[in-house]
Amino acid sequence: MEQLNLTEDNYYSQELNSRFFSVSQYKDFMKCEAMALAKIKGEYKQPVTKALLVGSFVDSYFEGTLPEFMQENPELFTRKNELRSEFRKANEIIGRVKADPLFMQFMSGEKQKILTFELFGVLWKMKMDSYLEGVCITDLKVVANFRSLPLWRYDLQGAVYQAGVEAVTGENLPFYLAAATKERVTDLDIFQISQPTLDMALNEIREHIDHCNNVKMGIIQPEYCGHCDYCKSVKAATIRNYNELLLEG
Ligand SMILES: [Zn+2]
Repeated sequence: MEQLNLTEDNYYSQELNSRFFSVSQYKDFMKCEAMALAKIKGEYKQPVTKALLVGSFVDSYFEGTLPEFMQENPELFTRKNELRSEFRKANEIIGRVKADPLFMQFMSGEKQKILTFELFGVLWKMKMDSYLEGVCITDLKVVANFRSLPLWRYDLQGAVYQAGVEAVTGENLPFYLAAATKERVTDLDIFQISQPTLDMALNEIREHIDHCNNVKMGIIQPEYCGHCDYCKSVKAATIRNYNELLLEG
């Protein structure tokens, strides 16, 4: 497939989000269809949390764009113009992983490499943190702790990234997470997501993507989960039985 001109500047644009699926968009559909659709239409923006910003801070270091990132995000600094504690921690994490040869080897590929491809009858876009052509795909994760890693469903990301590289280059590459923790003392390791796990994740996407696409195209009305921030922001109050609350988990 022809590689359309996707750049760092237009990658997250509404136009491209409408034309392409991405792993995060797929995950949005799995969480709440109404929220996913509102995001695509530009009617809802997820607030940028400190945790997300810490991840972007470390990403930008590896991209070589940390100075620009710091200029564009004044919220990184206190009123006294000192780096906020979360980002001092991020700096510490960068220092720690920089000193580890294996970690840096995995992060030594092409940075923020964008690919577009067709998978299960729809168009996808993806952006890799570190792409070592013919060797492996690595995504950088700064997380609270290792135990929380599987909760983020990085198997879905690995499955799509592996399929995307294969669609474009014909090569089946292993997928790794280069993970570092925000714990008091930073832990760091390289986690490989095994092929059976990636295969299962890809099957899961295969099963759901038609429905997601039909909702995206307006053929099927989106379901409202009823409890996410978006749903709460657009709901109308109803009269409810107090005892319902006792039954909810
Ligand atoms: Zn919802």
